[in-house]
Amino acid sequence: MTHGAGYREELVCPRCGYRTRTLPSLWRCPSCGYPLQLTSLREGTSRIQGPFYRMGEGESPLVVFRKAGSTTLVYSLEHLNPTGSFKDLGTSAVVGDMVAKGARRGVVDSSGNSAISFSYYMASAGLEAHVVVPRDAPKGKLGLIRASGAHVHLVDSREEASREAERLATRGYYYAGHTLNPHFIRGVASRFRRVIRGLDPCRGLTLLAPLSSGTLVLGAQYAARSLENELSCRPRVSIWGILPSCNLSTEYQEGVENIIRLDRGDGGCSMLDALRIGRPPRMYEVLEALRGGGLVVVDDSVVENAWRRALGMGFIVEPSSSVVVEAASRAGEFGWTRVLAVLTGSGLKYVDSLPGAGRGI
Ligand SMILES: [Zn+2]
Repeated sequence: MTHGAGYREELVCPRCGYRTRTLPSLWRCPSCGYPLQLTSLREGTSRIQGPFYRMGEGESPLVVFRKAGSTTLVYSLEHLNPTGSFKDLGTSAVVGDMVAKGARRGVVDSSGNSAISFSYYMASAGLEAHVVVPRDAPKGKLGLIRASGAHVHLVDSREEASREAERLATRGYYYAGHTLNPHFIRGVASRFRRVIRGLDPCRGLTLLAPLSSGTLVLGAQYAARSLENELSCRPRVSIWGILPSCNLSTEYQEGVENIIRLDRGDGGCSMLDALRIGRPPRMYEVLEALRGGGLVVVDDSVVENAWRRALGMGFIVEPSSSVVVEAASRAGEFGWTRVLAVLTGSGLKYVDSLPGAGRGI
């Protein structure tokens, strides 16, 4: 079902202020190249507007743990969305936008949870999904994408996948890639607006979420901002991104005030595959979102205990979500008293490497 037809979109460049109502190639600012943002999100209007294609996403349970010493931990079980990841929150808005604009064919350049989400939402909406992926993409996830009926385009590298998606975008395919398409962040923000509002953010809230391209922390930040005009007090939400050590660039080290190191420094990041990306295209906004919060840096040496801990609590999550559980379990140590911990991806896509499954850790 789509909702919100009649909505008119305006885009603004967060970096240089360029504004437009015309959709540029790959959602990038024609003036400086930075990915454009929806003006409604950027300026924090009290409602998050726009069409959605709904498949029941955004209704995942919240589980509350109260620990000795007055710490409250709230887990948001986003791995229980229809295709097993928080990506459904964003896809719902992206496909909603496609339906509203009458677009029939869409393309993404990703092989992970976002491509799975896109493929199945597109199938449900009766639209044509094209997924451009490197040949060495994980076979299990590729199988899931193919089973949806999506068209899979195999290329030689991640860089070539981006170029091919861009080529298709210039031929009239709707570009749905979650790192650039701002509607994705609108969908995430819509969910977290409701979650954050329900947790009385005026009392202070620490939000913990995995950080790769930054769409989740940006959704959370815009959600918190949208509540400022609505609540009688100022919401205090500190956003902490959980970052694999392999992604800890100089830009992060210089641009983020608070950095907690849980990694050993030489532990590697192969278990955190879902979080491995280069520089986030929306880095400017990501650094903004982490102001007042910060980064928790992790690596494979953390994942070994973290995954067992998460599974032991009953959360069948992927390794990249288990590190959120690990950081949340140490809330007292870091002075966090009210924590919203976001579990992002299902462990059911990792059944062959679960601890005790015969392979993996
Ligand atoms: Zn610009």
